[in-house]
Amino acid sequence: MEPLKILLLGSGGREHAIAWKLSQSSLCGKLFIAPGNAGTEACGENVNIAYNDFLAIQSLCLREHIDLVIVGPEEPLVNGICDYFKSDAALRNIALIGPSREAAQLEGSKAFAKAFMHRHHIPTASYREFDLSNYEEGVEYLRSLPIPIVLKADGLAGGKGVIICQNHVEAMAEFELMIQQAKFGDAGKKVVVEEFLKGIELSVFALVDGKSYVLLPEAKDYKRIGEGDTGLNTGGMGAVSPVPFADAVFMEKVRTRIIEPTVKGLQQEKFDYKGFVFFGLISVNNEPFVIEYNCRMGDPETEVVIPRLQNDLVELLMAASQQRLSEIEVRIDPRAAATVVAVSGGYPGNYQKGYEIDGLDILSEDDVIIFHSGTANEDGTVVTNGGRVLAVTSYAETVSKAAQRSSIIMEFLDFHGMYYRTDIGYEFR
Ligand code: AMP
Repeated sequence: MEPLKILLLGSGGREHAIAWKLSQSSLCGKLFIAPGNAGTEACGENVNIAYNDFLAIQSLCLREHIDLVIVGPEEPLVNGICDYFKSDAALRNIALIGPSREAAQLEGSKAFAKAFMHRHHIPTASYREFDLSNYEEGVEYLRSLPIPIVLKADGLAGGKGVIICQNHVEAMAEFELMIQQAKFGDAGKKVVVEEFLKGIELSVFALVDGKSYVLLPEAKDYKRIGEGDTGLNTGGMGAVSPVPFADAVFMEKVRTRIIEPTVKGLQQEKFDYKGFVFFGLISVNNEPFVIEYNCRMGDPETEVVIPRLQNDLVELLMAASQQRLSEIEVRIDPRAAATVVAVSGGYPGNYQKGYEIDGLDILSEDDVIIFHSGTANEDGTVVTNGGRVLAVTSYAETVSKAAQRSSIIMEFLDFHGMYYRTDIGYEFR
């Protein structure tokens, strides 16, 4: 294969990890990242284009003769970037990693995802969906449910659309806010009410080509801001891979009951899906259930999954695009990986940007990688530019040793207001 010209869309830690891996491939001729961050500059060329600006993306692809586009975040996928490429004669032949708008509804609509799981007998919490048309029925239904009660706004709500209500009064109030007052906008006026599942969560990732799939390393992320999983929800404060409780027996259940029926279901329903599927799972007494689908990789999970992947990523993505994944064998680094995320002071609430980040250049160990998230290069100085600022990934024999190593490395890094959790992977110590 000739080296390819590649465009990666996004600007987070996930994209830095993907760019880092792509740039190691002999098949990567030239890599553009739009818009990227200060870290991705070391892997390719950042282009100042927003990932939702399809017109600007189109002209970049044509100008630079791009062969492969990888879509990092969900928004352009849910907005139909795949269909946009397919409907344009000049873009049609570019390989694009990500599902069609219709298939991206697996993430874009909770009701769509639940109905899909139902059709294909994929284990998930029992549920019903409500909107203004059956609002009163919904209130009756809520009354009849045991607590806690899980309410989910149907559409994308920036990770905030799920509310776990500890009593009926709260559930009724939230239900009213979502449907009557459009708390999460129009897309949240439809609400999925779900049975609460008690168990341990993990994330499993597959790359699918429409016919077959390959399984990537699994991961567990840590969403709460505080140590011991306390406090507000964030985009993710850290992640580990592998997940010690996901043994061979459990993973076989995941494959046969969840991944294979999902891939078959996508094929049966003729969805155009060449891309990553993120399975948000919960283990209830060692039985896996799907909590959610995402139609892209997770962040910060990618920062541990990609470093453990030994295959050439460009080769893998081209195989997905050409429906050749059945020929591929995934090789995984036997070492564990853990990532710890440093965030701006105040996050996930209000925070300031623009603080200089110290210590980035001191590192030379080969079992530690710093992935940038919210960073920017201001005239040669790397400054904070978001809530989640950077992720330190380490390899070690066990996830807890890897996490400890990342915490130690954090001590050498500094920016005003910097905060990180020191207990990532705590359950596995
Ligand atoms: P989601 O956006 O669907 O991933 O939901 C966000 C979080 O809410 C999940 O990561 C779980 O921690 C929690 N959650 C969602 N659905 C359920 C459920 N049915 N039972 C228990 N927890 C849930």
